[in-house]
Amino acid sequence: MSIWPTGCFADRHVLVTGGTSGIGAAIARAFLAEGARVTATGIDGAEAARAAGAMPGLDARVLDVRDTAAVTGLVSSLPGLHHVVNCAGTIRRGAEHDPQVFADVLDINLTGTMRVCAAARSLLAQSSGSIVNTASLLSFLGGGLVPGYAASKGGVAQLTKSLAIAYAPEGIRVNAVAPGWIETPLTDALRADAGRNAAILGRTPLGRWGKPEDISGAVLFLCSPLAGFITGTVLAVDGGYLSN
Ligand code: NAD
Repeated sequence: MSIWPTGCFADRHVLVTGGTSGIGAAIARAFLAEGARVTATGIDGAEAARAAGAMPGLDARVLDVRDTAAVTGLVSSLPGLHHVVNCAGTIRRGAEHDPQVFADVLDINLTGTMRVCAAARSLLAQSSGSIVNTASLLSFLGGGLVPGYAASKGGVAQLTKSLAIAYAPEGIRVNAVAPGWIETPLTDALRADAGRNAAILGRTPLGRWGKPEDISGAVLFLCSPLAGFITGTVLAVDGGYLSN
């Protein structure tokens, strides 16, 4: 007998930041397929329009997670909220030793995640909802070319654990996924670099790049009743990279 709680996302409202591209778009698509009402956001109108065209039923919006008023305004415009997936993120490979670039990456990846969590807290408390943040392999490993990205993702892991403690009395679970190397626009440059590509594949026991769809299952699991006793966890979905 199946233990999957069929229908558990039907008519649930889900917000996916960064849900109009890459990993976030795959997550938005998976929630839509389960009957959820999904609001997905992206940094620009063209990306949001493309996602809306590709995913019938998607409520696609523009949101810059650096803008506290915009985050608060978007969340308060939602009729209800059961699950938040913080997937908006950026990387500025090679430029992040400039403190201003470093600060901007932190502002998007880490403080942006906190802004959305803070804005969503009261709606999630009403629904006993849940949050899934997006960490990274660089939550655990350093990145010489990307000190801002690595610091932000280390921060996302610690933020996840801290909010799990803080929000638990309100019935809100807070977890994170830590994707391995996934084929998205964010990693185009790495796949185009033969040396980096070979090194990544060589250390990944499952021997391939991940697909955005490889992350959706973990996110839906963490949001589902099957994960009702899981909070504060950072789940690596990485083809075994961290084990090697
Ligand atoms: P992507 O470039 O396809 O998606 C990034 C998303 O973030 C886009 O929708 C973009 O509009 C949005 N975004 C960027 N800046 C923003 C801002 N200031 N405000 C709001 N939204 C903004 O890349 P992706 O690979 O799908 O990345 C999604 C998440 O997964 C990111 O947090 C990234 O760090 C994380 N991640 C990706 C990988 C990978 O290998 N691709 C690995 C680990 C973690």
